[in-house]
Amino acid sequence: MRIVLKGTPAARGMTLGRARLVQPSILAVDMRMLEDAEVGPEIERLHKAIDTARTELRELRGKLHGALAREVGDFIDAHSLLLDDEELLRGLDDLVAVGHYTASAALKMQRDRLAAVFDAMNDPYLKSRGEDIDQVIGRVMSALNQPSSREERKLASRVGEIVVSDTVAPADMAGMAGQGMLGVIASAGSIYSHSAILARSFNLPMLVGTRDALATINDDDLVLIDAELGEVIVHPTAQDLARYRQWQRQAAAEGRRLAALATAPTLTRDGAHVRLYANAELAGDITLARARGADGIGLYRSEFLFLRQRGLPSEDEQFAAYRDVVLGMGGLPVTIRTLDLGADKADSAGLALRGEENPALGVRGIRLSLRYADIFSVQLRAILRAACYGPVRILIPMVTHLGELTAVRNLIKKAREDLARQGQELPERLDIGAMIEVPAAAISVTSILAKADFLAIGTNDLAQYVLAADRNNDALDGIYDPLQPAFLRLIAHVIASARRAKKPVSLCGEIAGDTQFTALLLAMGLEEFSMHPGQLLQVRDRLTKLDCAALRRAAPRLFRAHTRDEVEERLLEVVAKQEGCGET
Ligand code: PEP
Ligand code: MG
Repeated sequence: MRIVLKGTPAARGMTLGRARLVQPSILAVDMRMLEDAEVGPEIERLHKAIDTARTELRELRGKLHGALAREVGDFIDAHSLLLDDEELLRGLDDLVAVGHYTASAALKMQRDRLAAVFDAMNDPYLKSRGEDIDQVIGRVMSALNQPSSREERKLASRVGEIVVSDTVAPADMAGMAGQGMLGVIASAGSIYSHSAILARSFNLPMLVGTRDALATINDDDLVLIDAELGEVIVHPTAQDLARYRQWQRQAAAEGRRLAALATAPTLTRDGAHVRLYANAELAGDITLARARGADGIGLYRSEFLFLRQRGLPSEDEQFAAYRDVVLGMGGLPVTIRTLDLGADKADSAGLALRGEENPALGVRGIRLSLRYADIFSVQLRAILRAACYGPVRILIPMVTHLGELTAVRNLIKKAREDLARQGQELPERLDIGAMIEVPAAAISVTSILAKADFLAIGTNDLAQYVLAADRNNDALDGIYDPLQPAFLRLIAHVIASARRAKKPVSLCGEIAGDTQFTALLLAMGLEEFSMHPGQLLQVRDRLTKLDCAALRRAAPRLFRAHTRDEVEERLLEVVAKQEGCGET
């Protein structure tokens, strides 16, 4: 019987295959209490399982090749670090030795304790890191229960299979993708998880939050993932299969058409040049940015370097990471944003303040960096050194007033002097830009422009501050709406001011990669868009269909609208008129 389950698309597309249930090994728990004589051997069994998990991770690390190796390697390293965590290991030993729990029960108890800590976090990204704990403990758990022969332990081929699980570890995702897995249905998980990022990189359709998947789907059931609609169809009908074949034909044709755009210039229908930059956090984003013909990196979120590891990355570590991005972009400009920790992004080194009553309005971004000038200077020196390998610009997050830019310029000057004293090579020029995401900076943008060489509008934050609506609170969907006229007028003011001052201005919030906003942003005079590289071709394609001059002429009428619906109606009217008289 045909069954439809709902899930959240984490990586788009459709795929058809046989279900393979990867049962959460975390559930196989033996809750009996141990006799005294059993404690020693049980601790030995636990240690052996941890060693096996370590070896597996090491072997996986060794097998990685190619563009994704670095990125997947980072996840594996993070998991290996967890397996060496003294607190975790001592806690496990104590539960067995003192509490007389079995190894599996001890693992489950430690997992539940840590999961509660991650669950209490507000930041959806950090919350999703709780999955790492599940995945590491799940790996040890399966080592506890697995047959001892290495041959038997090898992962079976996944050709034709769709994996159904609670979550999938990033390392397993990489392994299974290489073995022919077609897609993933996860009953839990979030679209911010590393597995979801990898599924997008591997082009594997993935649904998360498919609540009843493990209870409803059986091994070898035929399943169709529709990650466009957010559905899994178990036992699809002939009609479903026909719809899938039609999607395949369309996707193939669309892929061929878009692929041709990877090397095409970015031009509107009336021939206006637009520059498309990529937002990047991971090595894979750089690869994709190159493959899709990005004009450079418009936003490198450097805080991810700090979020992914324990402790602060040293100057050399940061330098190596930034230099690799610069080299990877092969002479195209790279915009490195300095640390934007704080608010919902807390690092493991404890730099971001904790317990602030209102963290989104607290010590975040440049406010935090200026509070820890020594640590900030380490980052500035690393960026300066990397800038000797190609064109680099520095971008400052959460700028509120001019004084902050003056302070940054002074610190950069000092960093240059320190490096010169050490005999280090220095770049001749390094442009310093301000993110415009605080309303005060947007309103007084002409003052900011006095000290900024360029601007990048961060609409994700600017919208939350202008509209007083938390960007992570989905109950505010109707208010956190980038079509609100007040918000649009402010963006238009920033773009117009930068253009008057003849300084580059880009927009790097999520709307830059959303084709529903392309016409609107063009109407505002935007010429530089920065987005996830996966969205580049769609935006380039959309631009070819739009008449830039006509949109600019229509702009005053758009921004005089009183409601978001009026904006939408007027915009649709203008675009429909263009489509009516266009060749496309
Ligand atoms: C923004 O605020 O729009 C932005 C690009 O920065 P982030 O999403 O990293 O806060
Ligand atoms: Mg921001």
